[in-house]
Amino acid sequence: MKKDQLLTRRRALLGGVAALGAAGAAGLLGLGAGGDPAAPAAPAAGAPARRPLKPSTYRLQPLVGHGGPNASRTLVRREPVLRMTGVGRTMVLTFDDGPDRRYTPDILSTLRAYDVRAMFFVCGEMVVDNKDLLAEMAEEGHVVGNHTWSHPLLTELSRGRIRSEMERTSDVIEETYGERPRWFRAPYGAWNRSAFQLGAELGMEPLAWTVDTLDWTEPGTRTIVDQVENGAGPGVVVLSHDAGGDRSQSVRALRDYLPQLLDDGYHITVPRRHQV
Ligand SMILES: [Zn+2]
Repeated sequence: MKKDQLLTRRRALLGGVAALGAAGAAGLLGLGAGGDPAAPAAPAAGAPARRPLKPSTYRLQPLVGHGGPNASRTLVRREPVLRMTGVGRTMVLTFDDGPDRRYTPDILSTLRAYDVRAMFFVCGEMVVDNKDLLAEMAEEGHVVGNHTWSHPLLTELSRGRIRSEMERTSDVIEETYGERPRWFRAPYGAWNRSAFQLGAELGMEPLAWTVDTLDWTEPGTRTIVDQVENGAGPGVVVLSHDAGGDRSQSVRALRDYLPQLLDDGYHITVPRRHQV
């Protein structure tokens, strides 16, 4: 790996997360052991009225806005969801940090070839120049989650900044995908109480992952494939990336492990909220 690649903001921060060991790898950072949902989130105080949604041909489901009935039913968790439960040989593939025109269309194409749905945790600032890709995700039944606007380390931000990062991203997802996101993932897997509370206020469940492909280290396509196949199991949520660096290995790996998983009898799908 080239030295300049090691010095990027993303890798510097991820290095810090990795130093925390298994907890960091599982997408948890400095959280208590309690995993039970706490009190329901209060509706967002002073939340602006929902903007009317432009009619769109790709909108598949009724709009669910924050402040609506679903938002008040989202519980505040103390740790993110790591896997699905009670779903047999089912797995979830997730792709973070995009969309990126260089890689996301390839990933969409592979998913289409196998008639598989996946999750894309997008950053708002990436969506702005790639609105058509969000429309394509909606048309093809993929689930789009909120991965903040600019991919900051939330644990270093004020509550107001965290809210802004999350809210702006939900707004641009609504505008381009056709509905507000129901899932949120903290950058670097670095969650804190504000992130859980604000996510719940915005009607989103926090989803981490079970298996990290470590594709951001560009370890080679074969290594990424091995990470997925060795980590495969019922309810497993796989983390990969479609942006944030050279993701050509991630693109090639998917073409290899996706048919393998299907051959092995796995059903690749997107989670319903009662499955977590
Ligand atoms: Zn990320």
